[in-house]
Amino acid sequence: MTTNRQLADDELAVARALLVDVRARIDAAAGGDEQLRFALNRKVYKELSYDERGKPNARVSLKARMVKAQGGKCAICAKPLPAVDTVLDQLSAIGGYVDGNVRVLCRPCDLAIQRERGFA
Ligand SMILES: [Zn+2]
Repeated sequence: MTTNRQLADDELAVARALLVDVRARIDAAAGGDEQLRFALNRKVYKELSYDERGKPNARVSLKARMVKAQGGKCAICAKPLPAVDTVLDQLSAIGGYVDGNVRVLCRPCDLAIQRERGFA
């Protein structure tokens, strides 16, 4: 587990300025149409999350491949994985959802990991 790069104060200021700019551009593009503003915001949000996480279909097939590669067992406790409610866990967030950077966990093991990382 590698730690994600954190932004320095001056870099945080750059991120905030980008957000102000993107929000203003969405507002301008929507031209006062609240429903259009919502739809534009959602589209930008979704595409940016795909940049980081990949598209949902790709994650579904990656997860299926990993379950098979793990012999249908949780990568931590080695208990058989349930058919639903499993978690595709990244070893490093910047590494992305690709073979070699992910493993499939059962929900209890994922929760334990999230607590360990301070996310839950
Ligand atoms: Zn487990």
